[in-house]
Amino acid sequence: MTTVSLSDPSQISTLKDRFSPMPVSTKSTPALAPLRLIQVSQQYDNLAQPEKPLQILDRVDLSISAGQTIALSGPSGCGKSTLLQVIAGNLSPTEGEVWWGDERIDTLNEDERARWRLNNIGMIFQDFRLFPHLSAIDNIALPLELLGHSPQESREAAIPLLCQLKLDHRAEHRPDTLSGGERQRVALARALVTRPTLLIADEPTGNLDQETAEQVEQLLLNQASVHQVALLYVTHDLRFASRAQQHWGLHQGRLLQRTFTDQR
Ligand code: ADP
Repeated sequence: MTTVSLSDPSQISTLKDRFSPMPVSTKSTPALAPLRLIQVSQQYDNLAQPEKPLQILDRVDLSISAGQTIALSGPSGCGKSTLLQVIAGNLSPTEGEVWWGDERIDTLNEDERARWRLNNIGMIFQDFRLFPHLSAIDNIALPLELLGHSPQESREAAIPLLCQLKLDHRAEHRPDTLSGGERQRVALARALVTRPTLLIADEPTGNLDQETAEQVEQLLLNQASVHQVALLYVTHDLRFASRAQQHWGLHQGRLLQRTFTDQR
């Protein structure tokens, strides 16, 4: 069975078919329980030396609480995306456990994990991953539709976010007619529309100029605070990383807390 992903436009209909609509009244408020990784390891096959698998994560322990902000950095190839994939339930680790409150995530089947992700996790990417044929408001409304809400209801729920993120005058624009900063604001609104408990941002400012990046940073941190969402973001920018409550680095598969001295 293949993994379905919100970031792949060709999979929308697959997702729509797969999930039976959920009545609006049963949409619960976000759980406050934290995410916990216990002794998580991830190995990949090493095609060059099959006898030596690549050890990308090595017994990682991590706990993310409601409202917490965590920055993650490290050189390219150190395993940041792998860690995000494990946390978002896209990848079951080779070893270890992933818990969401009292629910174990890594042992759920793919459909269960996809629904869990849609309900609890908001994701933002460096390359925005908006659907090019949908307007800003329809991009934002899409996750609610996938959860079974009507198109009208979903669009109505998107409007307050459009206004908060100063996008109301761009509601009917498609992504190719928006600036980079506007696209990332649409992506942020789309990530927040389901009222997730955890927002994961993979280099959210990596494709933006300095001034726009600073605006998006501020919005991301503000919105996480306003919506009481835990925020985990990957960045190479130490100044941006230092704005999080915690800053972690990945080194040889281990998660190490960075200190302010490291960041000078
Ligand atoms: P980062 O996000 O820090 O750049 P990644 O998590 O994307 O790092 O990748 C970590 C390492 O694992 C890289 O060396 C990458 O080539 C390797 N890798 C990632 N996915 C796979 C895979 N499916 N199979 C084999 N190697 C992989």
